[in-house]
Amino acid sequence: TCGICVEKCPFDAIEIINLPQELQDNPVHRYGENAFSLYGLPAPQEGKVTGILGPNGIGKTTAVRILEGELQPNLGRDETVDWDDVLEAYRGTELQDYIADVRDGEVTVARKPQYVDQIPESFDGNTRELLERTDERGALDSLVERLEIGPVMDQAIEDLSGGELQRVALAATLARDTDFYFLDEVTPYLDIGQRVTAARLIRELAEEENRSMLVVEHDLAILDLLADTLHVAYGEPGAYGVITSPKSVRNGINEYLSGYLDNENMRIRQDPIEFEEHAPRTATHGDVLVDYPDLTKSYGDGEFTLEVKGGEIHRNEVLGIVGPNGIGKSTFAKLLTGNLGPTAGDADLDLDISYKPQYVTIDQHMRVDAFLSSITDQFGSSYWNTEIAQPLQLERIMEQNLSDLSGGERQRVAIAACLSDSADLYLLDEPSAHLDVEQRVQATSAIRRYAEQQDATVMVIDHDIYTIDLLADRLMVFEGEPAVAGHASKPQPMREGMNEFLSNLEITFRRDERTSRPRINKPESQLDREQKREGEYYYSP
Ligand code: ADP
Ligand code: ADP
Repeated sequence: TCGICVEKCPFDAIEIINLPQELQDNPVHRYGENAFSLYGLPAPQEGKVTGILGPNGIGKTTAVRILEGELQPNLGRDETVDWDDVLEAYRGTELQDYIADVRDGEVTVARKPQYVDQIPESFDGNTRELLERTDERGALDSLVERLEIGPVMDQAIEDLSGGELQRVALAATLARDTDFYFLDEVTPYLDIGQRVTAARLIRELAEEENRSMLVVEHDLAILDLLADTLHVAYGEPGAYGVITSPKSVRNGINEYLSGYLDNENMRIRQDPIEFEEHAPRTATHGDVLVDYPDLTKSYGDGEFTLEVKGGEIHRNEVLGIVGPNGIGKSTFAKLLTGNLGPTAGDADLDLDISYKPQYVTIDQHMRVDAFLSSITDQFGSSYWNTEIAQPLQLERIMEQNLSDLSGGERQRVAIAACLSDSADLYLLDEPSAHLDVEQRVQATSAIRRYAEQQDATVMVIDHDIYTIDLLADRLMVFEGEPAVAGHASKPQPMREGMNEFLSNLEITFRRDERTSRPRINKPESQLDREQKREGEYYYSP
C-alpha cells in the first residue's frame, strides 16, 4: 500500500511499487522518520538540457534544492552528514564533479518558479523594472523580442496575464549569468508557437553558452523537443520519490507512456497511454446540440475583430479548440455563454453553459468539500466519487481550504466544479495547465467518460497537443493575427483540423516507430519537407 490510501491505488496510476533493496538502502534525503524520502538525483550536464518527467509531489523540488546547495542532503542517515560524505556517496557517478562544485560553493543558479501567478505578490513594479535587474548576460533585448514581451514592457507586473507572466519569468531567468538554470514548467498559458520558441531559447543557452539546464515539463511534445536526456521520476506522492538514471529522451518518454521502465525493471502504471496513428473516422455522433450562425464580434472601434463561421456542435462530442493566444477563443466562449453580445449575427443560443476559465481564481476561504457540495447534490455519491473525485485525485485535498491549494490542485477542483454543474455544454479553457502528465491523462479520460455517460457536450481549449489528441473528437481552429483579427473555422474532423492548425504554425509531426506517439519534426528535415508537400501535418495518410 502507498501510505495514503489503504488498499490498492484506486487511480490505477501507480501500481504499488516494491523498491529494490539496493535503492531502499540509499536514499539521498529523508525529511525525517516516516517522512518523505528521495532516491536518486538528476545529473545536470554542461551544454545539455536535462529533463525530468514525472508526477508532482515526488521530490523534484527537493532534488533541485540539493543541486542548488540550498538543502544539505542527509543520505537518510541519523548522524550528521556533510558535503564530503555526499561527494563520497556519488564518487564515480555522473554527479561527482557537480557535487564537488556545490561543496565548494561554486555553483550559481537561476530558477524559474512553477507558479508564475504568484510573481505579482513579490514584485511591485513594471515589466521593464523587473527585467532590467536580471540582464546579466546582455541578452535581454533579444529575449524580449523573441518572447514578444515588447508590448507589455511598461505594464505593471500585477496587470499581466498568466501567459505574459510566463514569458517575462522565462526571460528574467534566461537573462541571468549562471552555471545552472532550473526551469520548473515553461509551458502553462503559452500557445504552441510560444512553447516552441521557449524550447529553442533554452536549447540555445545550453548549446551556445555551454550552460547546464534542468527542466521539469509536462507537455510531452515540448519536452521531447527540448531535452537531451531525461530522468523519469516515480513513486508515491508525499511518501517517496525515485529519480532514475538518465535515459535518452525518446526512450524515457516511451517507457513512461508504456508504464514500464526497462532498465529499472519497474512497472509504474497498469495501462499504457496510447495514441492513434491514423485519424479517427469522422465521428458519427447523433443529434445536433446547437446550430449557430456566422457571428462577428468587435471590441472598441474594431481594435480586435473575431469572425466565426457558423457550424454545428454535436451532442456527446468533445470538441477541441486550438489556436494562438489573443485570437478570440475566449471571446467565442463568451458569445456562447451570452456574457457578450455579437456585433453581427444572432447568438441567442439559449444554452446553459458551465465554464472553466483559463485562469482559475477560486480562492475563497472555504473548504474544497463545502465548495463542491454547494455546486452539486451528487457530491459524495458513488457515481460522483468514481467519475469525478477519483480521477481528479480530490480525496486528499477535500478538507483543505481553497485558498491554500497549489495551482495544480486548484485546477483539478475547478475542472470538477465545471463538470459537476448541470448544463447543456461544458467549456473548459486550458484544463491541462499545471497538471502533471499523469493527472492530464486522468483528467482527459474523466472528461471523455463524462461526455459519454452524461450525454454531455464538452468543448476544450488547450495548447497541449497530446491532451487535444487524447480528448477531441473534432476540432475548431482559430487563426489570424493575434490581438488584431481572428477567424474561427466551423468544427471539422480531426485530420482536417490538425492539418489546418499545424500548417499555420509550420510544424509537422512524425510518429515514433515503437509507440506511434507524435513527435515534432526538425524544421526543414526530410520528413518535414515531405509532409508539408503532401499536406499531412499530423496523422499518417
Ligand atoms: P515536487 O517538487 O516533486 O512536487 P517536493 O520536493 O516539493 O515535490 O516535495 C516532495 C515531498 O516532500 C512532499 O510530500 C512534501 O510535502 C515533502 N517535503 C518537502 N519539503 C519538506 C520539509 N521541509 N519537511 C518535510 N517534508 C517536506
Ligand atoms: P484568446 O482567448 O484566443 O487568447 P481573447 O478572446 O481573450 O483571445 O482576446 C482576443 C483579443 O481581444 C485580444 O487582443 C484581447 O486583448 C482583446 N480583448 C478581449 N476582451 C476584450 C475587451 N473586453 N475589450 C477590448 N478588447 C478585448
